Amino acid sequence: MQKQDKIAVSEYFYSLQGEGRTMGIPAIFLRLTGCNLICGGKGVEKDGILRDGATWICDTIDVWMQGTTWSFDDITEELNKTTDFVKRLKEGVHLVITGGEPLLQQTRILHYLEYLEEEHQLIPVVEIETNATILPHEDLDKRVHFWNSSPKLSNSGMSAEERLNIDILKWFSRNDKTMFKFVLSNIEEFEEIRDQLISTSVIDRSKIVLMPAADSIEQLLERNEMIADLCIENQLRMSTRLHVEIWNKLTGV
Ligand code: SF4
Repeated sequence: MQKQDKIAVSEYFYSLQGEGRTMGIPAIFLRLTGCNLICGGKGVEKDGILRDGATWICDTIDVWMQGTTWSFDDITEELNKTTDFVKRLKEGVHLVITGGEPLLQQTRILHYLEYLEEEHQLIPVVEIETNATILPHEDLDKRVHFWNSSPKLSNSGMSAEERLNIDILKWFSRNDKTMFKFVLSNIEEFEEIRDQLISTSVIDRSKIVLMPAADSIEQLLERNEMIADLCIENQLRMSTRLHVEIWNKLTGV
């Protein structure tokens, strides 16, 4: 580990984990810069126009496209000032590393976790949110407690080659620390998951959690029942979206 290592960060805040297996747990979110996909279709980042069959746009695209490259000392000092970072993580608050696609910077993440242990005697509970297109290094996997994987469907406007890597998906599916989160707005999207990922044994159904696509409380309530029915019918786990439920359309909370 090099103490002078750097990491590109777009946003950080202290809140609750809003979805999935650890929903409700207090967490400090570190959003890293950059992604290898452009959900909404390539070009959507410039004009907001959906392309290539996309039905939705990545809701953090404006955030992860910007960022600052920090030294480990500087980002830790900044996080301590804004979130009481080291103290809270020592008390059990989770560190959620998200993006963009954080695994684009996986060596930096590993070095930062090593730095936190060596310089601050801190071994945090780490969750990494990933689109599951990049294989994690073994050394990083050892330091991660939860892999929150969200493979993208055809409605993202990305080609199957770009968004699905079967070997990598199987690696995540074999990993005890993985949950696959899918955000759905209709039944056809579930059928794509069922036919391409569950029936083909790429993803173990016990690792799947379905959530309603919603950017407002009204939409969440409207779609909750559809997701509940799908989960009951197909023996899958359901999660709501705590941030939408509590803060409605606010982001960064
Ligand atoms: S993979 Fe995630 S962060 Fe990247 S563009 Fe798609 S939704 Fe956004």
